[in-house]
Amino acid sequence: MSKTKNIAIIVAGGKGKRMNADISKQFLPIGGKAIIVHTIEKFEKCEFIDLIVVVSEKDGINYFKKIIDENNFKKTEFVIEGGKERQYSVFNALLFLRDNKISNENDIILIHDGVRPFVKYEEIKNVIKCLENSQYDGCVLGVKTKDTIKECDSNGVVKNTPDRKSLWNAATPQAFRYSVIMKAYEKAFRDDFIGTDDSSLAERNKAVIKMIEGSYENIKITTKDDLMAAESFIKQ
Ligand code: C5P
Repeated sequence: MSKTKNIAIIVAGGKGKRMNADISKQFLPIGGKAIIVHTIEKFEKCEFIDLIVVVSEKDGINYFKKIIDENNFKKTEFVIEGGKERQYSVFNALLFLRDNKISNENDIILIHDGVRPFVKYEEIKNVIKCLENSQYDGCVLGVKTKDTIKECDSNGVVKNTPDRKSLWNAATPQAFRYSVIMKAYEKAFRDDFIGTDDSSLAERNKAVIKMIEGSYENIKITTKDDLMAAESFIKQ
């Protein structure tokens, strides 16, 4: 039987409309280096990662290949085309891994946002180890919610205040065995269901998911404010 691999899918196929920049947000520099370079480096340097697949929009594929060459990234073997929504970008990567016989059912797939460059070595390792050493179907990095969350109707009228003690902010990486996450994606595709993260698709298939506590620095760089926060994290 072939060895189980740990494969990172880094999704970087978004255009970053909320940033109002001319280039896609993952290519914006922080600390003199593109955000996506910081992100890929984290996975390249982690000995528990065997292979990295980057998902890009069609027009960015050649630029990505140049970045991979220039930075001498060895594990980042594939850059593939994404889809209209993040969910389709991930699904394309899962299909690519299956159709090219790269992944086995038991491989651990870590899905990570290209615009989260501050993920730490320990966090990548902890997510993998959690899945390897447990009966959980998935493992998600996150932080405990600091704010009180209000559930409101479409007029902004509060309907419910869930108990903060049980609330988490989900981040990435999110890890699953290949068979678990592929089944979840296929079902979502059949049902025309779009979720806001990968775990939510697996949860619809009754997967048992474990949250792991990460750092508040693992932000998703989405707006100009996030970019400013990212610059200050880099300086530290
Ligand atoms: O859209 P959002 O800000 O949640 O994007 C999270 C990640 O998903 C980003 O790294 C972005 O590049 C990626 N993405 C993608 N394909 C899309 C939309 C977003 O790979 N169609």
